[in-house]
Amino acid sequence: MLNFYDFSYELLQEELANRGQSNYRATQLFKWVYKKQVTDFSEMSDISKVFREELLSDFYFPQRKVHTKQVSSDGTIKLLIELEDGALVEAVLMRYSYGNVVCVTSQLGCNMACTFCASGLLRKRRDLTTGEMLIQVLIMNDLLREEGNGERVTHVVVMGTGEPFDNYDNVLNFIRLINHPYGLEIGARHLTISTCGIPDKIKKFAHEGLQVNLAISLHAANNKTRSRLMKINRTYPLEALMEAIKYYEKMTNRRVTYEYILLKDVNDSLADADELSDLIRGTNGYVNLIPFNPVEELPYQRTPNNRVSAFLDRLIKRGITTTVRKEFGTDIDAACGQLRAKEENS
Ligand code: SAH
Repeated sequence: MLNFYDFSYELLQEELANRGQSNYRATQLFKWVYKKQVTDFSEMSDISKVFREELLSDFYFPQRKVHTKQVSSDGTIKLLIELEDGALVEAVLMRYSYGNVVCVTSQLGCNMACTFCASGLLRKRRDLTTGEMLIQVLIMNDLLREEGNGERVTHVVVMGTGEPFDNYDNVLNFIRLINHPYGLEIGARHLTISTCGIPDKIKKFAHEGLQVNLAISLHAANNKTRSRLMKINRTYPLEALMEAIKYYEKMTNRRVTYEYILLKDVNDSLADADELSDLIRGTNGYVNLIPFNPVEELPYQRTPNNRVSAFLDRLIKRGITTTVRKEFGTDIDAACGQLRAKEENS
């Protein structure tokens, strides 16, 4: 049986073509499923009975199973979603003034082992499929629908547990699916992929023809500190990363966002700010400063607010567009870097 949610529009067209069906069938099916919320093939009245029966025997829709739901005082919702094999993944819904943002998990665990990240404490068990990422958004849409205010998910960030570019094909299919006009129809500019910085994947991504935002987890502007914080930097040092980013910018004409977690006495001095502005000056990217969310087992501390402001001011003075990330859901461990679905049977 095939999980219907694993198919982007393009993949579904291909699959149906192999069954001798016209392209129009993919349009019909997508409209039923993603526009009318109908997942029972027998209700799809404009599709022939014979073909409906074929669909019924070959495709299924996985159940949407919420294992745990936590709601923060700021309205942030953190879900633990149970996948078909019993694995649990976290997804977070944040309510910004401009829309409803879902942070999606892309892998079960993560192999990048960044030393400040809770997710990195778990080894990767497997990649998530396209459908397993999609269901996180669909469930959040269900919850918003239940609230009855006509709201829906307007933005998606692939910033939950996992390294999206270590699960490249599934993540790209997921992006195409939620972006497609017959799919969830979320505008490409409302979609963001966040990567720890894998140069060949950044270059590949430059050729996908998507207007999706790319965020780079930078966190340090020299190799010594970055290699200490992020294992990936030992394989792909800053020179290789920056070269890939410049290539991406040239090919797409798009700006990247540099994510920079401020860690007390590690990367938060004014000299660090100067080094950061020198490093990225040759690119068009902007900086998003992230307040560190403490993780019990980890040795890092949060930079005090006055130092955050000083760092911010310094970057701005040096001509770098910089913002500080707003924090959500801190009271339910839904904040950045804290997602860590405990595995059930271990
Ligand atoms: N692997 C991807 C996406 C997942 S991490 C990446 O590296 O970008 C998403 C973001 O959360 C990254 O910028 C990551 O560095 C940040 N993050 C991880 N742990 C954090 C913590 N404890 N506090 C604040 N941000 C954290």
